[in-house]
Amino acid sequence: MAIHNLLFADASAEVEACPVVLFGVPYDGTSTYRSGSRFAPNAMREASYNFETYHPDKGVDLRDARYCDLGNLGEFGTSASMVQQVESFAREQVSKGRTTVMLGGEHSITAPCVRAHGEPACVILDAHMDFRDSYLDDRNSHACVTRRVTEHLGRDHVLVVGVRSYSSEEAEAAGAARLQYITSLDILEGGLGEVLRALEELPEKVYLSLDMDVIDPAYAPAVGNPEPFGLTPLHVKQIIQALGGRIVGFDVTEVSPPWDKGNTAALATRLVREVLAALHQAGKA
Ligand code: MN
Ligand code: MN
Repeated sequence: MAIHNLLFADASAEVEACPVVLFGVPYDGTSTYRSGSRFAPNAMREASYNFETYHPDKGVDLRDARYCDLGNLGEFGTSASMVQQVESFAREQVSKGRTTVMLGGEHSITAPCVRAHGEPACVILDAHMDFRDSYLDDRNSHACVTRRVTEHLGRDHVLVVGVRSYSSEEAEAAGAARLQYITSLDILEGGLGEVLRALEELPEKVYLSLDMDVIDPAYAPAVGNPEPFGLTPLHVKQIIQALGGRIVGFDVTEVSPPWDKGNTAALATRLVREVLAALHQAGKA
């Protein structure tokens, strides 16, 4: 077995000249059901050593890609302190022209990272609408992420994909905000065509947020809030490939290692590598 300092595999580029940076946010403070995603950044790093560096379908090798792993952000108290840390750290990376790849942690970490990127489009892959104004008295909750992102970017710049679970209040608020979303049933019944067309309508630069519960629990059982009738891993791979070099920020959230036999972390990690390979293929990593 290889000895390593628990950095993401093949993250060997020099930091200063690095166009793509990984970092972890081991935070799950607003989780309400199956917490434990604070362990996921390191679980994904462990899992990353399982994979070959060569991606046959793209003809690229991650040993040639330029990315580095800056480790995990530190201690978190309140959700507000997490939000402040993520936003200021990500802002510093963006100011250096870097693409960010953030390993969560729960989905609440996404909104501050999107804000740090200015005004990209944001594509959110999620079983849930996450459109509550506040949840358990916390506007930074994982249940409010899409609401916060939409407030910041405006509805024309946000697309939610794979949604299949929301409250009647969220449905009403999303309707009033004219939130653009495509359900998992739309995709399972009709394919990805509608999604690919919607991606074309978005501004060029895209922040892609992957809440792992968008994928069916048969493939990704160890998530904070598992929800049946989900997407397949191939759907997510195809969305990543369609965006390719348009991605300026990416995150993967909601993997909960205490509930995992390893397959959920393996899939999440493989999808991170899919993003890195797509960026490299596009000359962005
Ligand atoms: Mn979510
Ligand atoms: Mn979710």
